[in-house]
Amino acid sequence: MQTIAVIGAGTMGNGIAQVFAQNGFQVHLIDVSQDALSNALATIEKNVKRLVEKGILDAAAEKESLGQITTFTELPEAVRNADLVVEAATEQVELKLSIFKELDATAPPEAILASNTSSISISRIAAVTKRPEQVIGMHFMNPVPIMKLVEVIRGYSTSDDVAKAIIALSKKLGKTPTLVNDYPGFVANRILIPMINEAIETLYHGVAGVTEIDTIMKLGMAHPMGPLQLADFIGLDVCLAILNVLYEGFKQPKYAPCPLLVNMVSAGKLGVKSGEGFYDYSESRKAEKVSTQFS
Ligand code: NAD
Repeated sequence: MQTIAVIGAGTMGNGIAQVFAQNGFQVHLIDVSQDALSNALATIEKNVKRLVEKGILDAAAEKESLGQITTFTELPEAVRNADLVVEAATEQVELKLSIFKELDATAPPEAILASNTSSISISRIAAVTKRPEQVIGMHFMNPVPIMKLVEVIRGYSTSDDVAKAIIALSKKLGKTPTLVNDYPGFVANRILIPMINEAIETLYHGVAGVTEIDTIMKLGMAHPMGPLQLADFIGLDVCLAILNVLYEGFKQPKYAPCPLLVNMVSAGKLGVKSGEGFYDYSESRKAEKVSTQFS
């Protein structure tokens, strides 16, 4: 594999693009928003510079990895010669189905089509293509350049060869791939997101405040970040979308999103990306405090 198309240049897409570029792949980064592409390039540049300062990359590697990325706003042109497409667009079923239909029609027939979805069924996505055996979940964790795990999700029709290729590729990126089956939320978010929802319920019922809940989980359970702060990092809209997939997929009340989460998303309080969630990121000091946890 040489050319990787990454669809979506948001929180995840820019990290995925960076990791592939750093490992010598040609990256085509696609977004419908030119602003998202400009922000992604600025973020990647900043992150790569930090790696140089820390001595993890040298200046030549910095220049080379940034030079590996080309941006596009039109999908067909960007995927025409891709060996692998990693879709990291907004977590909405209908959007992903329409992207995969278009990908199937425009990417080379032998290309593998992967989704970074947090929860949407890979089998369902694969079913809109004529190559369901070449569709797979490649679920990176946030922040992508730092987190080691790639949850590799085998759809109902995914072939052994495609699963093996994605496992090998993930290792080449310095990640630890872990193969799981395709059920709502897979493994990571089936466990993580109900815990975050329970933390929000705890706040909603007035059992404790934001800082208290996060402190208890950090110091008491040795979590590097409290669940409410983590929700801000993931994006409250993404957390809500995942809960809805779990709720619809299992039809069990334990997955019902907390009304407070629903209200916050309706009000546009999405966490770090909107400047406010459970914490206020408009004050630079607080935002800095959070970002240093990953540096
Ligand atoms: P985001 O909202 O930060 O970014 C999504 C990007 O997709 C936006 O820039 C948007 O303009 C773009 N987009 C929307 N429609 C598009 C289209 N048709 N073509 C190209 N680009 C399009 O979202 P995110 O947090 O980066 O999440 C992306 C995916 O990764 C989702 O499936 C999400 O569930 C998954 N994911 C998120 C996290 C996380 O912590 N945020 C972790 C793992 C996986």
